[in-house]
Amino acid sequence: MGGTVSESRTAIVTGAARGIGAAVAQRLARDGFGVAALDLDESSCSGTVSAITSAGGHAVAIGADVRSADAVGAAVRRAADELGPPTVLVNNAGITRDNLLFKMTEEDWDSVMEVHLRGAFLMSKAVQAYQTEAGWGRIVNLSSVSALGNRGQSNYSTAKAGLQGFTKTLALELGKFGVTANAIAPGFIETDMTVATAERLGVPFDEFAKGAAEQIPVRRVGQPSDIAATVSFLVSEEAGFVSGQVIYVAGGPRG
Ligand code: NAP
Repeated sequence: MGGTVSESRTAIVTGAARGIGAAVAQRLARDGFGVAALDLDESSCSGTVSAITSAGGHAVAIGADVRSADAVGAAVRRAADELGPPTVLVNNAGITRDNLLFKMTEEDWDSVMEVHLRGAFLMSKAVQAYQTEAGWGRIVNLSSVSALGNRGQSNYSTAKAGLQGFTKTLALELGKFGVTANAIAPGFIETDMTVATAERLGVPFDEFAKGAAEQIPVRRVGQPSDIAATVSFLVSEEAGFVSGQVIYVAGGPRG
């Protein structure tokens, strides 16, 4: 899967400070992309960038809130100036604000929609200008098995299902410019996000992960590298005929 890019191409990965985004940024750098590691706070990406540069790769840290059109515009321009036209975009930044519907606040609802949906919209709109100009591009959106419904996540599951529709529409609109768009729907991946879920439920993480693994057909939880490997394939040259798809990376058909 994946492979080395022949000419230097630039990839932007949002939410790249940690977790899945950090693993994706490092994997794409290994594949030969110059990587703009974007997160809310530029300094929070220093670990990701130094891991890439110390392995001989090329990366810059960029601070931006994906909910802000101005911040997104400036971030994408900076990536283009410092690394070259960004033709690969991984919309990975995400948050959870879990609660049962009767306890969910408007703020819980709005903030999840804004980061996942508005964030992916603004980033994709800014990056497609470079992709259509280049006549080549790849967009990968992080959905989730929660798109199929998950107790306590009416906001998050709605946003993640929305990203699947967004992905398919981008595939339809941008295909003729050589741009593919796909979504990855991870199951349980061991990151700060799942650690926070265990905390919220009052279960020790090891116990939480063990219980989850027992429900997963391959009998283990996922790692950020499982998602990074799938992104590597989807953004590669050889994945050019794969577009508008949702790939469940969940150790089974739906996690
Ligand atoms: P994570 O460890 O919580 O990392 C998410 C990153 O996104 C954080 O660095 C966070 O920054 C950043 N971020 C949040 N809001 C942002 C904003 N407005 N602008 C820019 N960056 C922002 O999460 P993860 O587990 O790696 O998840 C990555 C993606 O995969 C998310 O979209 C998530 O929904 C999806 N996913 C995860 C799992 C899982 O099991 N872990 C399963 C399915 C889908 P701060 O730290 O500063 O807040």
